[in-house]
Amino acid sequence: MEQIKFLLLIFNVSRGTMSLFQGTYDVIVVGGGHAGCEAAAAAANMGCSTLLVSMNLQNIAQMSCNPAMGGIAKGQIVREIDALGGYSGIVSDKTAIQFKMLNLSKGPAMWSPRCQSDRMRFAEEWRLMLEGTPNLDFYQEMVSGILTEGNRIVGVRTSLGVEIKAKTVVLTNGTFLNGLIHIGEKQFGGGRAGESASFGITEDLQALGFESGRMKTGTPPRVDGRSLDFSKMIEQPGDVNPSKFSYSDVTQPLKQQRSCYMSYTSEVVHDLLREGFDRSPMFNGRIKSIGPRYCPSIEDKINRFADKDRHQLFVEPEGWNTVEFYINGFSTSLPEDVQFRALRSVAGFENVKFFRPGYAIEYDYFPPTQLKHTLETKLIDGLFFAGQINGTTGYNFQIQNGDFLLENINYRYIQDANSHALEFMRANPGSVSAIATLEIEALALEYELKLRTL
Ligand SMILES: Cc1cc2nc3c(=O)[nH]c(=O)nc-3n(C[C@H](O)[C@H](O)[C@H](O)COP(=O)(O)OP(=O)(O)OC[C@H]3O[C@@H](n4cnc5c(N)ncnc54)[C@H](O)[C@@H]3O)c2cc1C
Repeated sequence: MEQIKFLLLIFNVSRGTMSLFQGTYDVIVVGGGHAGCEAAAAAANMGCSTLLVSMNLQNIAQMSCNPAMGGIAKGQIVREIDALGGYSGIVSDKTAIQFKMLNLSKGPAMWSPRCQSDRMRFAEEWRLMLEGTPNLDFYQEMVSGILTEGNRIVGVRTSLGVEIKAKTVVLTNGTFLNGLIHIGEKQFGGGRAGESASFGITEDLQALGFESGRMKTGTPPRVDGRSLDFSKMIEQPGDVNPSKFSYSDVTQPLKQQRSCYMSYTSEVVHDLLREGFDRSPMFNGRIKSIGPRYCPSIEDKINRFADKDRHQLFVEPEGWNTVEFYINGFSTSLPEDVQFRALRSVAGFENVKFFRPGYAIEYDYFPPTQLKHTLETKLIDGLFFAGQINGTTGYNFQIQNGDFLLENINYRYIQDANSHALEFMRANPGSVSAIATLEIEALALEYELKLRTL
């Protein structure tokens, strides 16, 4: 019955007899990744009528790679976002399985909060937070194009042909635009392992005069913790007195934590990896695009730092209850058999079983020189880009993108819609301006010191 209803709906929609969407949204956010979630939350909380369209609503806020938030030069961004009313700090605290303040041996300006997250709980918590946010609608479909009138955005078009009107559109497509996954000599389309790539938007933007490029990033294999020998590794427990990200009382520091572990590659491991170099898309020219600076693959590391006889590997649980582990430091696009053989030579991994092999992904991005400092595109009024579509990388930078641009959207386009928007502007003048950032940093330090002296 449900299927018949759905088919009738599509039939009517395609005949133009019925529209799924009436009226014009203040903001449509395309993509429910880190940038999109934060953007949608910020827009809706400012009183803008907001629609979040994502290809798979089951995978909202999915962590594509490392199940972790924060870290050096990143943790403070999560706190900045929290200070501005974003959700990432709260979600990170609620779903953390370990918390560490990195760089504690250095001065307070260098302290960097980082948490290990429960991957499944993180995505679930984000979805619950968004569902509890007024003014926010959801729709699952692939946006295949944008609608413009002259040099103004007026909405989006989906792959089913549904047209949705909006005053502003925020594209946060991440690694999905014409995404191509590489494992050794194998290639297949995808935006992330197990998820389809997204088509149409790049071509629409190019036709409007946008310049696009290709980038690549990669991820390590995930393994079965029951097949590991942790006694051969070095335990990495969380902080004795864990802190947290959010300034609010909604979350509390962790009372229990899960440990991570550390092991090392060796010359033997490096030799085994080198055996696969001729089948590596990185080295045989199949991957042509450049990678984000901070995500080197293991093959890249042993190639570029040939004098190093070992590299650190962090063995990180993917959640409270799962046996799946993430092998931080072993990002690779080498053939799966090479990955497997090499990893089996690492201490503690002699009997390792794979959950998923590592892979690299190439995707379209749009050089951010095409943006104003507000993240609005110079070519199309009301069209904004946030997140990895701008060629940046990392969960934490994407959320900042998402939060920051909304302030600007609201100021320029929606401010007449309601006074709440103006209140927000007064309360948050230039959220990521140098002064505001310093103030937030000072607040973060004060907060941290308070927690430590409690
Ligand atoms: C293999 C891999 C390894 C990575 N390694 C790391 C890492 O170790 N550390 C780190 O910090 N970052 C890593 N990243 C990057 C990290 O995933 C991103 O920086 C961050 O998730 C990007 O956030 P985003 O919101 O821009 O996009 P994403 O998280 O990629 O989300 C994009 C969202 O948009 C949706 N979408 C895309 N196109 C459409 C469309 N046309 N219509 C509707 N919905 C659409 C997708 O379904 C998805 O929900 C990695 C990414 C990948 C894929």
